[in-house]
Amino acid sequence: MLADYHVHTEFSDDSVYPMEEVIQDAIDIGMNEICITDHVDYGIKDDWDSGRKIRYRGNDPIANVDYPRYMTEIRKMQLLYGDKITVRAGMEFLKIVIEDGKGIEVNTSSHRYGLKDSTPSRNILKLYRDLGGRIITIGSDSHSPGQLGAYISDAREMLKSLGFRQFCTFERMRPVFHEL
Ligand SMILES: [Zn+2]
Repeated sequence: MLADYHVHTEFSDDSVYPMEEVIQDAIDIGMNEICITDHVDYGIKDDWDSGRKIRYRGNDPIANVDYPRYMTEIRKMQLLYGDKITVRAGMEFLKIVIEDGKGIEVNTSSHRYGLKDSTPSRNILKLYRDLGGRIITIGSDSHSPGQLGAYISDAREMLKSLGFRQFCTFERMRPVFHEL
């Protein structure tokens, strides 16, 4: 079971990766499930339907995800590719990822910045495990093609080394457990 639960698309103002390409690339690398988690920074960026003029940084709008268009596009992807991959809708609020559930996310993007298995995150995960925590999602925080699904197998090995046996995806707010 390969799942990436933290993925950005063109709907985030720091990505130009078209959603359909994200889905097609995910299918190509054998992914079974993906959770699209574009940025929503309420109170910091403008909403598309705020009525105010959207500010731009160069050609890039500084705005939250255009929610109705976002949900419409995700539903379209579910209809077009649902027989090949499970597509879930999420959102990232100021670096807190909401995936219709509560748990802890192992974010593999630290590998991109050379912070491989940094000690604080291992200690937090150990503490979470010792407190009985079992709900763990794994995501790449991908913003461009090479990042999609990256280092997810490393994250799984790291979790196993810390004594975890399973990771989660979500379905209708409920965790679904998979072997690591
Ligand atoms: Zn992110």
